[in-house]
Amino acid sequence: MDHETCIGVLGGGQLGRMLAFDARRMGYRVIMWTGGDDSGAARLADTVLTETFDSESAFQEFTNTAKLATVEFENIPSELINRVGTKIPVMPSTEAVSICQDREKEKNFLHANKIPTTDFEIVSDAESLRIALEKIPGDVILKTLRDGYDGKGQLLIKDDENRPTAIEIWQDFGNHTAILEKRIQLKSELSVICARGQDGETVAYDPAENEHRNHILDVSIVPARISETLIRQAQEIAKKITQSLNYVGVLGIEFFVDQDDRLLVNEIAPRPHNSGHHTIDACDTSQYEQQIRAICGLPLGSTRLIQPAVMLNLLGDIWSAPTTAPDWSPVHKIPGAKLHLYGKSHAKPGRKMGHITFTAATIEEALASVGLIKETYHI
Ligand code: ADP
Ligand code: MG
Repeated sequence: MDHETCIGVLGGGQLGRMLAFDARRMGYRVIMWTGGDDSGAARLADTVLTETFDSESAFQEFTNTAKLATVEFENIPSELINRVGTKIPVMPSTEAVSICQDREKEKNFLHANKIPTTDFEIVSDAESLRIALEKIPGDVILKTLRDGYDGKGQLLIKDDENRPTAIEIWQDFGNHTAILEKRIQLKSELSVICARGQDGETVAYDPAENEHRNHILDVSIVPARISETLIRQAQEIAKKITQSLNYVGVLGIEFFVDQDDRLLVNEIAPRPHNSGHHTIDACDTSQYEQQIRAICGLPLGSTRLIQPAVMLNLLGDIWSAPTTAPDWSPVHKIPGAKLHLYGKSHAKPGRKMGHITFTAATIEEALASVGLIKETYHI
């Protein structure tokens, strides 16, 4: 594939932005169809389409300009991914993306491949919810099947005397099919970034240990502070999933570790993942370069971790006004701290505005810097 090749990106968030950085460094051109976003990502693309995803003219321009396409955000309508795929190669495939877009399909796929998950029941009305609540004792979480991210579309239902009836919960949650999951007493959460090339070669990065706040990723610690056995198991499961999906590109697999050190797969993200941002500063090959290598048919790159790293997400909460970013000089003073901002024009609470990667000789040293920065910015 020659380097004048134009890569098409569906979506316009920070993942697309970081992908575009590496694509351009590697000499590729980028056309990005944001679907209407106020997009810092788009400013890095050679061509930007801001039309909504049902626009015919944008479809024509996108598919005439790009030689191949990829997806930056899994909630892109699958009909669109399908239709783009009739004109130019799309990687990952519509089939893989549509499994990851829908929690029911995702769980069924994992079960068909004998990969452990939380206990779950699909519910479609108050009566099926009532039955499901009886089948899954203890605390449970009700989740929408589609379009959830950063904990959106989830309801924790505690198993206590104040628990509302199934009818009340159903009315409160909205009348759409949903999934009821057992709430796991988490020992930790992990993720593994995997990549698979067009020739089937599959590689896995070192697992990240992830800490969430309000259901949003807060920090990722790499290497994860877990046993060698768990590391190997997580990587093996991640590779098995990647291969079973016949996947081409990068994907992020989220795991729960329960109190008995059992690994349960939570979610599969068919794209580079928030917990893989550290690969930009701490690994031989960033997850974004890896994505480009995979979809362009290049050999995959080394996943070696060069130095321990901790990634801290920066949410809009620490902006003093929607367009007023904090003073970053305390970050710039820390050796090994790398600030990444996504160029979003407006901050909102909970909105991912950027991240910092702290690399250091040890995890403890990197975590000490994270502590300092959290204190400075009241995170
Ligand atoms: P999304 O990332 O799409 O918002 P997730 O299903 O990954 O949705 O949930 C977000 C976070 O909520 C998880 O990373 C975890 O911290 C918590 N969580 C979700 N489901 C469960 C569960 N069944 N048991 C315990 N914690 C959960
Ligand atoms: Mg998740």
